[in-house]
Amino acid sequence: MSHFALPVSPSVSALRSLSLALVAAFTLAACGGDDSAPQSGAAPSPGASGTAAATPEPTGPVVVYSSRQEYLIKPLFDRFTQETGIEVQTQTGEEGPLIARLEAEGIGTYADLFYTVDVGNLWIAANKGLLAPTRSEILEKDIPEHLRDPEGRWFGLSVRARTIAYSTERVKPEELSTYEALADPKWKGRLCLRTSRKVYNMSLVATMINRLGEAQTEEVVKGWVGNLATRVFNSDNLIVQAIAAGQCDVGIVNTYYLGQEQQQNPDIPVALFWANQDTSGVHVNISGAGITTHAKNPEGAKRLLEWLSTEEPQRMFSELNLEFPANPAIEPVPLVQSWGEFKPDQVNVEVAGRLQADAVRLMDRADYR
Ligand code: FE
Repeated sequence: MSHFALPVSPSVSALRSLSLALVAAFTLAACGGDDSAPQSGAAPSPGASGTAAATPEPTGPVVVYSSRQEYLIKPLFDRFTQETGIEVQTQTGEEGPLIARLEAEGIGTYADLFYTVDVGNLWIAANKGLLAPTRSEILEKDIPEHLRDPEGRWFGLSVRARTIAYSTERVKPEELSTYEALADPKWKGRLCLRTSRKVYNMSLVATMINRLGEAQTEEVVKGWVGNLATRVFNSDNLIVQAIAAGQCDVGIVNTYYLGQEQQQNPDIPVALFWANQDTSGVHVNISGAGITTHAKNPEGAKRLLEWLSTEEPQRMFSELNLEFPANPAIEPVPLVQSWGEFKPDQVNVEVAGRLQADAVRLMDRADYR
């Protein structure tokens, strides 16, 4: 079979030539100057053997719609192509428009895999029927249950922890305990937060609603807003920098943002505190991916997804963006390890998607902008 023959069902045959034309256009746009992949006779990936007997050999490129930045995903996909001979074509953009595009394209979509950050986004895509349930022994072995969709429509690939950052000059770690405790008047005029419009905060608040209920969560969020030192920021980097500069003393950030700042300035006077260690654990979220409902190359997409859960790419997530591997068998890089061990919240990250709309309304009522 030709490498570029896309497996297309009869019902979409009318769209095939358009698909092929656009896939070819992606090739030109996205892959210029790339290492050319072998077109056939690819060595089987070490991770794919478990299901190889029952599944046809994937053919053609895998098209990925991704909200992850090019510099984070390209090295991974290049490596996959080197190992398997399967070409990967990416279309990157903001998650909202990518989901809208998947929806609008429907059965004629070019995407085989949708790859994004935050379970809120994956949950929305899954609930719009855009992601296909997938069973995979490899993924079910590599990815812990609480980091994947119970129906197999998406799988976490890397873990991000959202916790408390504090000034090592003005705060003692003993003063800190939970996200909720940042609502205490003790922190008045000392707290920095990122905008509630960021899905990271929607997910954090959604898990608090799940755990504490609406009324208590609303009190907490109102307390945070009352403690703000400054207007909300539009990035976690700015929170870390504001703490370092003395504009505020504590904040809530994804850990890799502190890592980025530490790479610039190893002596930055900001540290991480692992929140809620005596209770629910640190809020964790994922980057993750799912095979699209109308994938033209679902076998290739599955092979890529399975490969991403294995050792080398899992290590690369940690190297490229200072995240935690989703596969618990893989150790993160030393800088990430230097932050110490923590107990993560084990609630299935799916609740962050399910309660996202409630979280948005609650933050609005609490005047968290
Ligand atoms: Fe981020």
